[in-house]
Amino acid sequence: MARAGVDLGGTKIQVVVVDDAHTVLGQARVPTPGTGGPEAVVTTIAGAVRAAAAEAGLDPGSLTGVGMGSPGAVDQAAGTIALARNVQPDWVDPFPMAARLQAELGPPAAVGNDVRVATDAEAKLGAGVGRASFLGVFWGTGVGGCLVIDGTPFEGRGAAGEIGHTVIELDGARCPCGRRGCLEAYAGRAAMEARARHLAEQGRKTSLLAIMRHHDKPRMTSGVWARALDDGDELATHLVRRAVRALGAGIASAVNLLDVEAVVLGGGMGIRLAPDWLPEIQKEMLPHLFVAERPPALVVAALGDLGGAVGASLLVA
Ligand SMILES: [Zn+2]
Repeated sequence: MARAGVDLGGTKIQVVVVDDAHTVLGQARVPTPGTGGPEAVVTTIAGAVRAAAAEAGLDPGSLTGVGMGSPGAVDQAAGTIALARNVQPDWVDPFPMAARLQAELGPPAAVGNDVRVATDAEAKLGAGVGRASFLGVFWGTGVGGCLVIDGTPFEGRGAAGEIGHTVIELDGARCPCGRRGCLEAYAGRAAMEARARHLAEQGRKTSLLAIMRHHDKPRMTSGVWARALDDGDELATHLVRRAVRALGAGIASAVNLLDVEAVVLGGGMGIRLAPDWLPEIQKEMLPHLFVAERPPALVVAALGDLGGAVGASLLVA
């Protein structure tokens, strides 16, 4: 028996087809359409699920279910997604994603919050196994977060874990959420891209835009940032360092409040930049940790780039 998991992101859509042991049998990764609204997203997802099923040697109709993790306001019971502006700028109203996917592909579909399903995957299959409490931090287009406390996901009244919108600087930079001084205003990939474009327009030298064009990317993806860093690009290095300082302060503040035993770093930027930057984030946390002699373990998400999709597949396991 096999099922599909879909990770819908601001820059890419990752699909996996897994078996009952959560082993990946096939996968597909496609860019998120930049226009066309949620209907264009459905068409793209359905195509990617078909491609992943084909790689697994399966007919998409034979899948036992399709689970999808999404940003925005996800109503799991209704199967709808609203306010997914990171995906499509005009995606405001609730869209019946589960019903549309089922209509396109056949198997029953379910939707869940992207950060929640990725954390669930880490808790059950990845870096969270054996840990009673941890904070998942997903450094991507935005900065998402999710909490597991005493072995149980903690959701508060439904919106707990929004570490990206904790304030790290009063009257600070404008956040994509409209407020000021949020962690995401400094560390979110979208905010970093906006800042890079603004500074480039003002004459700051950078290879970021050229790399983006060269690789035919509509956005400054984590790969674009990684290449610019490898080139020693000064502006990219400055903005990533600024993001890492912000992450250090934000994560340390969350740890001061919750005293979790580990912090699991995921997300497109987190996974891509962790090899070089995880120790830097740890270093930037230390000055802000109230109990500095006992820092939490800071580890990279064990399921890597596929964690979101594998986690989404657990919705229909
Ligand atoms: Zn914000």
